[in-house]
Amino acid sequence: MSCVRVRFAPSPTGPLHLGGIRTALYNYLFAKKHGGTFILRMEDTDRKRFVPNSESYILETLKWCKIEPDEGVGYGGLYLPYYQSQRGEIYRFYLSKLLEEGHAYYAFDTDQELKSRRKEYSDRGLTFSYNASMRIHLKNSLNMTKKQLDYQLNSGSSYVVRFKIKPGEKLKIHDMIRGTILVNTDHLDDKILLKSNGEATYHLANTIDDYLMKITHVIRGEEWLPSMSLHILLYRAFGWNPPRFAHLPLILRNDGKGKISKRNADSFDFPIFPLKWVVPETKKTIQGYRELGYFPEAFVNMLALLGWNPGMKKEIFSLQELKDSFSLENINKSGMVFNLKKANWFNKQYLKKKKEELLSFLYRKLQNRSLFYEKDYLWKVIHLTIDRIHFIHEIWEHSFYFFVSPSSYESSFFNKICHKNTIVQLEICKNLLSDIHPFTSENLRFLFETKIQNKCKIMQLFRFSLVGSLKGSDLFIILEMLGKKESIQRIENIMKEIKEKIF
Ligand code: GLU
Repeated sequence: MSCVRVRFAPSPTGPLHLGGIRTALYNYLFAKKHGGTFILRMEDTDRKRFVPNSESYILETLKWCKIEPDEGVGYGGLYLPYYQSQRGEIYRFYLSKLLEEGHAYYAFDTDQELKSRRKEYSDRGLTFSYNASMRIHLKNSLNMTKKQLDYQLNSGSSYVVRFKIKPGEKLKIHDMIRGTILVNTDHLDDKILLKSNGEATYHLANTIDDYLMKITHVIRGEEWLPSMSLHILLYRAFGWNPPRFAHLPLILRNDGKGKISKRNADSFDFPIFPLKWVVPETKKTIQGYRELGYFPEAFVNMLALLGWNPGMKKEIFSLQELKDSFSLENINKSGMVFNLKKANWFNKQYLKKKKEELLSFLYRKLQNRSLFYEKDYLWKVIHLTIDRIHFIHEIWEHSFYFFVSPSSYESSFFNKICHKNTIVQLEICKNLLSDIHPFTSENLRFLFETKIQNKCKIMQLFRFSLVGSLKGSDLFIILEMLGKKESIQRIENIMKEIKEKIF
């Protein structure tokens, strides 16, 4: 095992969306590429945002995608506990070191006080920031004697602990995807490390955990890039070497309205959740890729290429191939727009290798209707239909006419052909069919080519009688597959329907 250790660190605040599961995937692929360890850590310190069932959803999604962690929540490991909510003491211990060494300080400003400061600033067209130039005017331990501080702490006043950022530094940070970034520490504020309820904030907990869990590479969404300088400064304050960072480009909405997020899952015209999600408040179910019939391999393949460029034309990658070729260097810098057509195309490529599954699906459909067909016939149907579909479940709507006559006729075309003349034409065709021996597609094609005038129109009529719409496979193959008796029967059926309508 190499020393590469990466983590996927979701907060249990709802289902994963495409961006979240892609972060997990890239972490997994990077770990596997380097023979490293993929860890799942639950960042559940913010109890206010906790949503029940999120954790089981995350675990089930990783299982469905076959990108299971080697270590962490649900998998155990040497760095227990993997829930941040159970690591409070660890955070307080390390925070006390920052306080002792003067890298952090207590702040007693009330929400109301800060609010009025903010207002005062914004009224003057300025932005209030709790930073080096401001903190000397505020109610914090930097402006108190030891005695005053002890008094405040002992009197039970509410406080937070803030990180003391040294101003005036041009900090050089390196992101594996974006390269070197310069940050002026004058622009950073003294972020809260410990909230007034005694809980560590994300910044503190995340940094301590990544260090203690020996994380070598932090691979996460671009929304965390602005926090990177703070995290680097935290590592420095602790005297620890930071891991390497890679911030992944956002997945963008296809309507130009920014990034996708789980909050407005309903407003997309494409699915954003890997698995179905029942919204706790409304009990409404939002379908996921799994329920919609995407294969996990296709989903993972599509997702891998949504932000990562394999550096070659090839687009179909098995999970093993992804593990072999993945690299952080080939991740795009700019946001990626999701393309549903492309996602369906991926599914289609995998569907082509799922003929046995299509066969069992058809078997089941037929069994439910107490119908039985020879395997050869089913294989022929699959062969004729597979290019028209993207999902297993679509095969029935594209092939039912090989097994059962249409239960209804598509109304706009039916109304168009509802006249006496059609009956006459169908009658002639019916008689022509009766004379064909053997009833093969070649003979039928020959008949149409040689004996039928107004060929296109008659072919449409035939197709409509057999299928119920103008869709479907090659007409002559359908006729051959159905056989003479069934074909004639379906022509008689539609003649009857037309007669009922016009007489
Ligand atoms: N808990 C953070 C999230 O859910 C993870 C950020 C990180 O990976 O550092 O987005």
